Amino acid sequence: MFEKILIANRGEIALRIQRACREMGIKTVVVHSDVDKDAKYVRLADESVCIGPAPSKDSYLNMPAIISAAEVTDAEAIHPGYGFLSENADFAERVERSGFIFIGPKPETIRKMGDKVCAKRIMMASGVPVVPGSDGVLADDPKTILDIARKIGYPVIIKSAGGGGGRGMRVVYTEAALLNAVVMTRSEADAAFNNPNVYIEKFLENPRHIEIQVLSDGDRHALWLGERDCSMQRRHQKIIEEAPAIGIQRKLIERIGDRCVDACKKIGYRGAGTFEFLFEDGDFYFIEMNTRIQVEHTVTELVTGIDLIQEQIKIAAGEKLSLRQKDIKIKGHAIECRINAENPFNFLPSPGKITSWHTAGGPGVRVDSHVFDGYVVSPYYDSMIAKLITYGDDRNQALSKMKVALSEMVVDGIDTNISLHRELLQDSRFIEGGTSIHYLEQKLSQRI
Ligand code: ADP
Repeated sequence: MFEKILIANRGEIALRIQRACREMGIKTVVVHSDVDKDAKYVRLADESVCIGPAPSKDSYLNMPAIISAAEVTDAEAIHPGYGFLSENADFAERVERSGFIFIGPKPETIRKMGDKVCAKRIMMASGVPVVPGSDGVLADDPKTILDIARKIGYPVIIKSAGGGGGRGMRVVYTEAALLNAVVMTRSEADAAFNNPNVYIEKFLENPRHIEIQVLSDGDRHALWLGERDCSMQRRHQKIIEEAPAIGIQRKLIERIGDRCVDACKKIGYRGAGTFEFLFEDGDFYFIEMNTRIQVEHTVTELVTGIDLIQEQIKIAAGEKLSLRQKDIKIKGHAIECRINAENPFNFLPSPGKITSWHTAGGPGVRVDSHVFDGYVVSPYYDSMIAKLITYGDDRNQALSKMKVALSEMVVDGIDTNISLHRELLQDSRFIEGGTSIHYLEQKLSQRI
């Protein structure tokens, strides 16, 4: 096992990884930007290295600075968390070339699965259904583009092959709007992801977002750890996630889970990963794979009792998976609410000093957060300040616990979306379960 791991991230996930390491007796090195110097995980780390000023491109995305930090501290492995460099194949390659272990898949796997068009092909070859769409990236020829969309049928969604974070997508309802939308998405994709390739998919009008968590040791063993329902989204960004997904036949999910395991074995996948699907009218359609730990891994941890970060670390250290599929038992129900520093009406970020911070507690309540009384939420980074997670014997109990937990949360000094979560926990359609990915936006549009 490793003696020392460098955590190339910030915020709650830096603290989460640090906790996992400390339980395993592994020392941690934390890298941070100058505005994060007083963060909780920096203070708790065995060692810390300032890698640059606040803007991410100068610090958390600064590959040479992170690798130098690993060199000077004698860390053996680098955990990238989520976001930042976690799905950057060049970074994984540089880490390995510099003699460190990247806690994640092989660089070539990240590259392949990070290209959504390539990922769809691989999944189709493993017998996984994908959203109907263009066969590969779109060429420039307008006639071909029009023909493809006509064949798929409107509405369609234009997506960036290298996209992520819910960006680089555009829904098109009429043929008249198609070509212009392709040009715009292409130029946005080029600017944001350095990859102008776009493709077309059928825009599903009433799907749920269901995803499958996997662990694979890159050798022979792979398993899936149940599913998550992440349909409560705004602008393609998840805000509530839960496990398991209700109202879907177990046999159907098991079939998809098994196909995901087959795909892992086929590509020699190493580490934790997530296969994302849209689910509509009883059918699953693969949309993309995330080759990293996800924000919402917590709900899977609660219903399986497995620490996913520790499993990632063990796999990276070369241990073979000791778990087998028959060991994976889903018990109870877990729900996560993402608490963001943002205005709950116009969703503008709300950075600033937290003057009062009281979190929820009690049986079945987990709070993953790096903030505290007096913490200053920086405008430079993602607005998520906490994940509030509840666990119950069944969904109703998890929901009741979440209602109580949300009522206990007090955050003063900045705006948060806690009131929106409280509203959603009273929403009869959400309580009933199984709402589509468009539900929240529809609800918000009727608010005023
Ligand atoms: P990203 O990598 O940016 O997260 P995804 O491909 O995972 O992009 O899509 C993010 C979200 O966008 C999905 O959860 C869903 O809400 C929406 N979406 C993507 N593809 C489609 C589609 N074909 N039809 C309807 N919604 C879609």
